[in-house]
Amino acid sequence: MDILENIPLAPFTTIGIGGPARWFVEATSEEEIVEATDWARVRGHPLFVLGGGSNLLVSDSGFDGLVLRVGLRGTEAVEADSGSGRPDELGKRVYKVYAGEDWDGFVERTAQDNCAGVECLAGIPGTVGGTPVQNVGAYGQEVASAIERVRAFDLEDQAFVEFAASECGFAYRHSRFNSEDHNRFIVTRVDFRLTADGEPTLRYADLLRAVHENQSGGGQPSLAEVAAIVRRVRESKGMLLVEGDPDCRSAGSFFKNPVVTKEQLKRIAASSEKGPPRFPAGVGAENVGRVKVPAAWLIEQSGFAKGYTLGAAGVSPRHTLALINKGGASATEVLALASSIADAVEDRFGIRLAMEPVLVGFQRQE
Ligand SMILES: Cc1cc2nc3c(=O)[nH]c(=O)nc-3n(C[C@H](O)[C@H](O)[C@H](O)COP(=O)(O)OP(=O)(O)OC[C@H]3O[C@@H](n4cnc5c(N)ncnc54)[C@H](O)[C@@H]3O)c2cc1C
Repeated sequence: MDILENIPLAPFTTIGIGGPARWFVEATSEEEIVEATDWARVRGHPLFVLGGGSNLLVSDSGFDGLVLRVGLRGTEAVEADSGSGRPDELGKRVYKVYAGEDWDGFVERTAQDNCAGVECLAGIPGTVGGTPVQNVGAYGQEVASAIERVRAFDLEDQAFVEFAASECGFAYRHSRFNSEDHNRFIVTRVDFRLTADGEPTLRYADLLRAVHENQSGGGQPSLAEVAAIVRRVRESKGMLLVEGDPDCRSAGSFFKNPVVTKEQLKRIAASSEKGPPRFPAGVGAENVGRVKVPAAWLIEQSGFAKGYTLGAAGVSPRHTLALINKGGASATEVLALASSIADAVEDRFGIRLAMEPVLVGFQRQE
């Protein structure tokens, strides 16, 4: 295993920003994960686990420690139906996918296999191992509902562990891996339980509209068609990685949609001519009596239109939630833009937007 020195991190991120990693290694097996983490631990170096770099903002000074890129590959599909006749096994297929696999490549494979459960998550960049970390979600699906098990290396106990989905603490853009156990586990494999010949999830308004426009003959679209439509909708918003498209040089959505109380909602409604759009906050006791409000709407109402620029950083001309690198932007510039947006929303509506990307190499780490 080669430990490299002073490797620029910008090319490993979708926003194309970030100084060098003091040390850098790619681990392609669980043994190499153990070896690389031992190397850093024995020397007392901080460790950062890198997937596809699609949800990161790396500081201009880089990361003064070991960046471990997760490069484990391989996918195994097994029929869950053991012949027991258990309803939870009927028609289910389990995919055991190693963490370094490309997420969208996996989604495409399941769509071609006609297995339902992740079709609306097509076009999300990054690795399979990155998906449980913030419980990726889009167009009416969250990865949590398809995950059966997560295998990970525990940096505290120096051992491999496996978690059932119910033990992962999944909620909106949230799991134990980005909260109480942040930096403790390296995900090495994710098992997904999908439904063979299942129907696509069609409940998100934008997606339903796009499907309707696409299906001139009517009828239910296939899973592969839904995945393709999702990618097209994403592309129209600059939310699909397309070579040469400057609007996708981002870290995806920069802010989470805030979940607000009824009192906060009243205050937002009172500060705007038209009340805000709102969505269900999701299941869970913490969400009772709350609704989710689109951060994009709050941002636009606070004076930041699509295409707004500050230095070499800007709001995407095609999606208010994505902050883009217009060419040569620094992390400092992106954070300055993010702060001015969050300040304006707070001044206007009394709500502090939370950032979605992970900050790497800053004094204040997310
Ligand atoms: C154009 C664009 C569109 C996007 N659209 C969406 C969307 O619709 N919905 C959505 O939820 N997200 C979206 N994202 C964000 C991002 O793609 C996802 O969060 C993705 O799952 C991140 O995976 P990654 O492998 O790139 O992780 P990275 O960005 O490399 O890392 C993100 C975090 O996960 C940790 N991590 C990564 N891999 C592992 C691992 N194997 N073990 C432990 N920790 C790990 C890192 O340490 C870091 O804390 C979008 C991003 C872009 C650029």
